[in-house]
Amino acid sequence: MEQELFLENSYQTSCKTFIEEINENKVILNQTVFYPTGGGQPFDTGILKQGNEGFKVIKVKREQGKIVHYLEDTTNLSVGEIMAQIDWDRRYRFMKYHTLLHVIAGHLYNKFGALATSNEIYEDNRARIDIKFEEEVPEDYFSSMEQEIHKIIEGNHMVSTRSLPREEVENIPGSIKTVINLLPKSIQMIRLVSISELDEQACGGTHVKSTSEIGLFSFTKIKNKGKNTKRMEVVFND
Ligand SMILES: [Zn+2]
Repeated sequence: MEQELFLENSYQTSCKTFIEEINENKVILNQTVFYPTGGGQPFDTGILKQGNEGFKVIKVKREQGKIVHYLEDTTNLSVGEIMAQIDWDRRYRFMKYHTLLHVIAGHLYNKFGALATSNEIYEDNRARIDIKFEEEVPEDYFSSMEQEIHKIIEGNHMVSTRSLPREEVENIPGSIKTVINLLPKSIQMIRLVSISELDEQACGGTHVKSTSEIGLFSFTKIKNKGKNTKRMEVVFND
């Protein structure tokens, strides 16, 4: 399996690597900085450089356990050494949104025992999260929620990852269980992402190092999505 460098260091923007396979416009590398679509986070775009030529990466997906890079054009590309480089502005924005969604989910779990049921980051600079509440939350709470979450972000909480055997993770109390139950039994080591004491979740996405990197955002929409579930949309202020 190719090395997934984005899991070790989400700030690495490029790597020297080797093309293992070219199939039409699809390329497989022996290690990559490109994040494939997953967990609500869109894929990275960028470029593969070979000699003096650049080849645009327009889509990245995980297919049968391998990370497949879709290129705009593979004419003149050959199996061998290349340099892989992601579009950092795009990735960094996704890292900030993704970490923000963790903060929101963690906060609402700690406060109400509410669970995030799904989330998505969109390519056009916005994201949404669906939260299922156990009980009715007074509507006026939602007008103060933004300020509460800004305070957490400004608290400069560190984000860290660790990997644990599945049976250990299954014994951790809290919201982790609901996610673990959805993972295929074949996955034995679980990657956990924690935001200091706020949130710990199984996740294979990319995150910023500290909540202060997220910056200011607004809830642009909060609407009902079935019984006791709210769909919340967020947008960065800058
Ligand atoms: Zn995550």
